[in-house]
Amino acid sequence: MIISIANHKGGVAKTTLAVNVADALAREGLDVLVVDLDPQANVTALLYSAEETPGVPLEKVLDGSTSVAQAVIEQTTVDGVHLIGCSLKLANLERQLHATPFASTSLLSQKLAPVTKVYDVIILDTPPALSFLTANALAASDFVFTPLSSGSKLSLIGADDLVAFIHQAKIANPRLKFGGAVLTRHDSRKKVCRLVQEAASEYYERVLENTMPLTTDVDKGQIVNKTVLQLERDSNVSRAVVGIAREMMSITGLESKPKDSK
Ligand code: ADP
Ligand code: MG
Repeated sequence: MIISIANHKGGVAKTTLAVNVADALAREGLDVLVVDLDPQANVTALLYSAEETPGVPLEKVLDGSTSVAQAVIEQTTVDGVHLIGCSLKLANLERQLHATPFASTSLLSQKLAPVTKVYDVIILDTPPALSFLTANALAASDFVFTPLSSGSKLSLIGADDLVAFIHQAKIANPRLKFGGAVLTRHDSRKKVCRLVQEAASEYYERVLENTMPLTTDVDKGQIVNKTVLQLERDSNVSRAVVGIAREMMSITGLESKPKDSK
């Protein structure tokens, strides 16, 4: 099962959601791989180490110089979550590939094939652009979820472009389904958040009931490379992340696995 987290707006919590939901899914007993498709390499910085570039980053898999298995990092900052990281050089590769005649949006899907069955779920964090890399992510995915930052009405501007892009991706990849929009940085006391929450369902065919609250825990956790669940398991925001992950499981048909079944 491959899930993309996509929205061409930056700063809507794609990366935050990818890493935190990955942790919550691993705690459900699932084998999880996160793939960093954003050349800003934020997932890589959070799950690996802010200072280092992985020895075998995704761009080396995509350019054919190494196999995907060699790129998998098993020791990450989150138990049960493996990573394929990237570096800024992924942006150069994207430019080169884009300029290549017949460059295929199925490249990522082909390259991931050897590890697809190894994991219960592969989460693809995508760049803030409706670009070649995002098209590759959607071409490889079974589901796409879209984080929306609920603190600004601007969150919904451009939703039509994203919906149209996903529609195009579905023509190329009929397996792809829209999983739902996820409200992030949500504060139900704020009028603007309630407005965005109400309006979101006019733009997206599904909006998750569970929302990610606005919290200082995300930034606090980033400083020490910790997810919100690692920071404090019983906080409101941790419960919210678990709620989002479980709702995603029920939408996608993923089932939790008892730890001793492995
Ligand atoms: P994207 O990947 O969509 O660009 P990020 O996940 O990097 O977005 O998040 C953008 C910023 O918002 C980061 O500084 C992150 O720490 C912050 N952030 C994300 N989620 C929350 C939240 N629930 N509460 C507060 N800040 C958040
Ligand atoms: Mg990001």
